[in-house]
Amino acid sequence: MMLKYVRQYLRGLLLLELFRGLRLTGKKMFEPKVTVRYPEEKTPQSGRFRGLHALRRYPNGEERCIACKLCEAVCPACAITIESEQRADGTRRTTRYDIDLSKCIFCGFCEESCPVDAIVETRFQEYHAERHEDLIMTKDKLLEVGDRLEQQLAEDRAADARYR
Ligand code: SF4
Ligand code: SF4
Repeated sequence: MMLKYVRQYLRGLLLLELFRGLRLTGKKMFEPKVTVRYPEEKTPQSGRFRGLHALRRYPNGEERCIACKLCEAVCPACAITIESEQRADGTRRTTRYDIDLSKCIFCGFCEESCPVDAIVETRFQEYHAERHEDLIMTKDKLLEVGDRLEQQLAEDRAADARYR
């Protein structure tokens, strides 16, 4: 018992614990870093990442969405609201397409159910909102995101198809 206290006393006196800690710090200082300095540095991202939604167009500029409402029906969070009308040429298109991001759980069901690859989830994740209205992705906003990120969306889908 006495020996134990003497050993503890000597250890404290010689600062052994401190030097042991410093040795570990010194060792780790020269090892490759595992932390990422986000947002300056980014981690690798899958082409299937489910971020902000977008509505895509065909190369001729026509909207892909045919207002079939499958995405609205399949959405488990009831986050999608669609209204539609028939055009003069007999085709059907949406007059309203809203996604409430405050309800969305980013499950990807809308994307999977779409027969024409119109509604998709992009890799874009760096967005925020301070009011609920700003979390409603309207048709115009969705088309704007789609137009902006179309190149990457097309590339990701082409790469995905190659692995199927
Ligand atoms: S990702 Fe899921 S929850 Fe979000 S809108 Fe699509 S189906 Fe609904
Ligand atoms: S986005 Fe796709 S699934 Fe949804 S209404 Fe349009 S065509 Fe149908």
